[in-house]
Amino acid sequence: MIYYKSEEEIDLIRKSSLLVGKTHAAIASLIKPGVTTLELDKIAEEFILDNGAIPAFKGYGDFPNTLCMSPNEQVVHGIPNNKPLNDGDILSVDCGVLKNGFYGDSAYTYEVGEVDSEVRNLLKVTKESLYKGIEQAVAGKRLGDIGFAIQEHAESFGYGVVREMVGHGLGRKLHEKPEVPNYGRRGKGIKLKEGLVIAIEPMINMGTKSIHQHADGWTITTADGDFSAHFEHTIVVRKNKAEILSSFEDIEKY
Ligand code: MG
Ligand code: MG
Repeated sequence: MIYYKSEEEIDLIRKSSLLVGKTHAAIASLIKPGVTTLELDKIAEEFILDNGAIPAFKGYGDFPNTLCMSPNEQVVHGIPNNKPLNDGDILSVDCGVLKNGFYGDSAYTYEVGEVDSEVRNLLKVTKESLYKGIEQAVAGKRLGDIGFAIQEHAESFGYGVVREMVGHGLGRKLHEKPEVPNYGRRGKGIKLKEGLVIAIEPMINMGTKSIHQHADGWTITTADGDFSAHFEHTIVVRKNKAEILSSFEDIEKY
């Protein structure tokens, strides 16, 4: 069952999503060689709690922390740890919060120090793929149009589009119907209607699309060990143009 949201509900999801953006901004300038993902996680957790919200991922299943922190070949769901980041790393940070009964969810992949131009291009194309998908999230289009646009753009650069992990509806739950794949066929899938709130989140690999699940039960890495990037916005389907509820604006000031 898909829950289409009222304007009042969308307003609350927007507030949660903007807090996610502010949380990202709170750690963005600190992401540099030498810092550990656990340090960043602590800062994010305090920031979320100080803003009257609850970290959405901590305790989801048995996930132990506030942020999913996935460096380099980790695709998503990496667990923060005590290992310092290195110059040339990339770090996917996924953040979710629950406030006033509604979730917000957004991910961004950061450069750590000086990153190879090839890797920078992976980040650029992954973010572009996200916006190509969002362009399709308009009433009257179909779910497959979103996945098609993302896939077409990423694959045109020879990158692998992860199949097993997908975007999702959200609202009173972190994961609601429908699933939002980052691949698909034009004109296929459910028809998009106004008030549908979804997280679109391409996970794009430099090489193979295949992934590997680690023994910790969470961490997903690329099967070939090559880098992977992840960008995510929470959006609402509107008549002529999707409205992006989360924001990278504060992140990109740094
Ligand atoms: Mg997320
Ligand atoms: Mg998500």
